[in-house]
Parts: sequence; structure tokens; C-alpha cells
Amino acid sequence: MNTPTPLMPDSAATAATAAATDNAAAIATAARGIRVDALDYEPGVTRHGSRHQPNIYDAKVENPFSQAIVELGELARSWNLERIEHLVVHEGRRAVWGGAAWDSPLLRATDTIPASIMELWRKESHRSERIAEDTFHIPSEFCSMIKTMIGRWHTKRDDPIKRILAFSSGCEPMSMVIEHARNIGYEVYTLEGVTAFKVGEGLENRAKFLAAELRKASVWLQGKPVDEDRLSAEIRLKNAALKKVARILDLRLKRPFDIGSIEVMWLLGGSSGYFGNPGKYFEILDRLLAELEEAAKTPETRPSLPLILAGGPPGGLSFFQLLEKADAVLVGFVLLGTSLYREDMPPLESLAHYLFESQLRGELGEATGASALLRRRGIEALIEKTGARGLISSAITACPYASLVQQLERNHFRKQGFPIVALEHTVHNDPTTEEQTMKIKAFLEQLSESF
Ligand code: SF4
Repeated sequence: MNTPTPLMPDSAATAATAAATDNAAAIATAARGIRVDALDYEPGVTRHGSRHQPNIYDAKVENPFSQAIVELGELARSWNLERIEHLVVHEGRRAVWGGAAWDSPLLRATDTIPASIMELWRKESHRSERIAEDTFHIPSEFCSMIKTMIGRWHTKRDDPIKRILAFSSGCEPMSMVIEHARNIGYEVYTLEGVTAFKVGEGLENRAKFLAAELRKASVWLQGKPVDEDRLSAEIRLKNAALKKVARILDLRLKRPFDIGSIEVMWLLGGSSGYFGNPGKYFEILDRLLAELEEAAKTPETRPSLPLILAGGPPGGLSFFQLLEKADAVLVGFVLLGTSLYREDMPPLESLAHYLFESQLRGELGEATGASALLRRRGIEALIEKTGARGLISSAITACPYASLVQQLERNHFRKQGFPIVALEHTVHNDPTTEEQTMKIKAFLEQLSESF
């Protein structure tokens, strides 16, 4: 029989056990207030027949630790599809769908605003899904991400953003959605899919190939090749943001209640495009850092239950609320990392290497060709770094890739004796379902009993 590999050293495990005993009591008696206080937020409230809650980027935080948090929330709320479309129509800015993740420095260096694909389901997601099912006969049980993309691009085909920057490492249905978008009038540029996993060719050759692809994409974006000095500056800027966010996450381990999970999502979400305002974003980061450095001199003594979230938050705001009520704190996020770009090579190759390294770490998700097998390595690194006591592995319902990832993680972490709960969700901004709520509560109870 295999002996499970310990996920933390003995000393850490002893300290963890002691702290966990306190945690168990705290979890049992947790009576902490709800931090998330969006105007019309009541999870599970039925309004006109549907359950309603705001998107996490439209939420407000009750009793924020710092004025910088209030301003971060305002900045996050101000940056949305309507704002980008306004800039296109009234200020002649250039915008495309896509390009808001690993490739964001290229977009900024070509004066192009990336509209995140996630904006496609930030609003009207149920309507988009109905269009996909009724008009395009996509089966109702199919992936909600695919259905909302088809439906939303269909309804927005005459709106200001008519170009899509695609990466061909996504799943087959995603390629079909993008082909469909091309057929209804969108102009599409597809970066040739390159993977770090191909056997037989050196990684350097593949990096050069992807760099050439990115240079061609820059011509498509702005009519001429990207200025590489400017791209290098954008890479340095993003690295600077990622370092600050990483430091905030480190300090948060000592002060887990000062900055909630919603705020961390804002910080990570803003690290690519700075919500359209790098000056303000960096000013907020600096203020938060200074305040947290000071606060961390007196570490929090109230017990908390540290957890890792792999995948998106199932149930949006209500998911965070459930955890916060139990003093469970998300200390690690696998989907959006704080890994740095290399600055010791030409910038286009640096982007290519960043993508390959993310694929090998299982970061960034299936749309960028991440490995189903290797996401667990990233999770293990986070567990070791943060001392997390449990893993919430989430996946989009009906996604074959995500269900494989979950199965692999379930097998692996159960063998290790590390607590894991697997949840499925859709892209809709619906509060947690009864089933999700029960599973999360049961998981938290299990953790409180086992430590
Ligand atoms: S969730 Fe899965 S099926 Fe849906 S678009 Fe992503 S990879 Fe494809």
C-alpha cells in the first residue's frame, strides 16, 4: 500500500493541528457578519420568479479594512463592457474580444482594449443561453459557457466590438463558437495553438514560433508590428503589479480577515488590464500594501480555516458569503496566478514562455491549453505555501475537460489524505444551489471535525 506523501512538514502539521482545534470551535460558533453588502444582495431571494444576486465585480464590501478597498471596488465596477463600448464609440479607441489574460501586455502595447470573454456572461447570460438553445438548437445539457458565448455574440453582432482575438488551444466546441461568430460578421484572428507538451521539438523553437504568431497578431491589431521596447515596458509593468498582488496575498496569511476573497478576486482580476486605469490601480495597491505591512506586525489571533479554490467560484457572492460565515478563508486561487514574465529575453518570446510555463503549471485554464494532469502541482505548491487545510475543486457542468481535471484531483488528493470537495457550476451569476450549499456546509463541517 502506498504511504501518502505528507503535504506539510511535521512542525507545520503540529502547529496546524493546534490551530485547527481552535478553528473547529470557531467554525462551530462562527457568528461573523456578512461582509458582502451589495445594494440589492440577498442570496437566494426570489424576484420575479428568479434568484438574484449581483456579479462579484458589482458588489460592495461592508466595513472595509481600508479606504483603498472602497476605491478598488469602485474601480472594478467602473470597468465593464458598457464602458469599453463607450470608449470605442465616443473616443475612437480600438477594442477586441479576448486578449485580457496572459497576452494582455501585447494588447496594451498596441493600444487595443481587450474585452474579456467573461463579459459575455456578466449580463444577460440566461437570455443568451435561451437563444443558443432555441435558435441554434444547442442541447440544454451542454456547457453553459459555450451557450452564453453563442447567444451573446449573436445579440451583440451589430454592436461596436466586432473583432475577436482567439487562441486555438481551446476546446472543440469553443472553436465552433468562434467559427460561428466569423460567419455572422465578426472579424476573427486566431493564434495558432502551441503547446508545451509536444514531444520531439525543442521548447525554444516553439517559443520562437509563438513569438512570430504574436507579432503577426500585433499587425492585425494595429496595422504594424508591435514596438518591442514598449512591449518590454508593459511586461515590466505587469510584473510590478503581480509582485505587489503576491505580496498582499502573503501578508494576508497573517491577517486573513482584513482583505476578503472578493477583494482578492478584484486584485487578481485587475492585474492584467488595471481596470483601464493603471495609475489608480497602482496607487491602490501601494496604499493597501503599506497598510497591510503595518497591520501584519500584529498577526490575527482569531482562528480561520484556510482553503484553496481551484476553478471559478460556484455560486458567486453567495459562495463567498457561505465561507465567510464559517470563518473559512480562501488563501490560494489556482485559476489566476501571480507568476512573473521573464525579462531576460525578447518580449514576444517572454509572452510565449509565460504561456508554456502556465500550461505546465496547469494555470489559466483549458482555453490556453493548460494540462488537466498538472493543475494539481499548482495546488500542492499553494498548499505548501499557505498551509491550506482543504481544497474546493470547481468545474463547469458538462465540460469534459473539467470533469477529467476534477476526477484526477479527487483521486490524487484522496490518496494523499487531503480533504477535497468537487463542485460543479454554470457561468450564470446564480446564488449557490441547495445542492452546492449542502456540499459546502458538509465539507466545512467535515474539516471542523477532522482537525
Ligand atoms: S467549460 Fe469546457 S466545454 Fe465549456 S468552453 Fe470551457 S473547455 Fe469548452
